[in-house]
Amino acid sequence: MSWNERQRAMLEAMGLKLWVPAGGAAAPEASVAPAAPTPAVSRGAAPARAIEPAVAPAAAPASREPAGESDVAVVEPPAPRRAAEAPVRAPAAKPTPAPAPVTAAAAADAALAQARGLARETIARLDWPGLRDEVASCRACSLCESRKNTVFGVGNERAHWMVVGEAPGEQEDLQGEPFVGAAGKLLDSMLRAVGLSRGEGTPERQVYIANTLKCRPPRNRNPDPSELAQCEPYLQRQIELIQPRIILAMGRFAVQQLLRSQEPIGKLRGRVHRYQGVPLVVTYHPAYLLRNLPDKARAWEDLCLALKTLEESPPREDGAAAAGASSAPGVTPSTAGTD
Ligand code: URA
Repeated sequence: MSWNERQRAMLEAMGLKLWVPAGGAAAPEASVAPAAPTPAVSRGAAPARAIEPAVAPAAAPASREPAGESDVAVVEPPAPRRAAEAPVRAPAAKPTPAPAPVTAAAAADAALAQARGLARETIARLDWPGLRDEVASCRACSLCESRKNTVFGVGNERAHWMVVGEAPGEQEDLQGEPFVGAAGKLLDSMLRAVGLSRGEGTPERQVYIANTLKCRPPRNRNPDPSELAQCEPYLQRQIELIQPRIILAMGRFAVQQLLRSQEPIGKLRGRVHRYQGVPLVVTYHPAYLLRNLPDKARAWEDLCLALKTLEESPPREDGAAAAGASSAPGVTPSTAGTD
């Protein structure tokens, strides 16, 4: 595997150092392989050398995951529809109790629940312009009160890759685009390292980036379960319209919502999941990586797993080839099972 200037720059941006053997030639043609725990297998002709992360991930105890990534989020699945419940016949012998009075609050709740149900179905049929308009004018939760802009998503609407993050931060709220702050810069570097971009190239090399929440939570607080539930149909529809060939879910809120799981990231990464049939790879949030540099090596492994998964998956119906297959550097993804 041969590394050019650009790829070395990307590794540097991710905080990964090239390892050069003692007395060996300096960097120009250094080769790298992914860090432990997976053994390196070179894809190219050149022999793989070891890449040296700041701290070897294999040695890192699971408890190194900070609370921000390992806390359990409460993600409520959509409420079951009352209409589907079987009718219950009252026992004949007993007098039928008088029905409870319907309070104004209960009626309002019921009306809201019905409206949400309808909206969910409506959203599921929207085209791109309709979906954009719906998000731009959304007032389904209180985040609409404090937002400056909704943050819909960015990238090619037929991109083969989709990145799902958590929620807009301050810069995203101001600019109306996801991942434009410091975490976004790291994300762009990581994507560039494997030949991907949010803005340039063919759909195979492009990434569509969206968040689970389209509005910024005040002071960047954690998303609330009800906000996540309200916003979920928008993301679902985006995924349906894009039909990505691979989803990279970043951070626990995206991961736990898409997978309907409450497992921490550390337990979910390293294998391929599915979201509505689309392969999904779990990884750390770039903002987390900015504070936990050693885990960048793990994020690199996750990216490699996504690349490998996509290369091995059948082409989409539009006949496009796997993203990164010809453009990615000679990285060696880890071997991983699939769900
Ligand atoms: N973090 C996210 O999850 N999304 C953004 O858009 C910005 C920061």
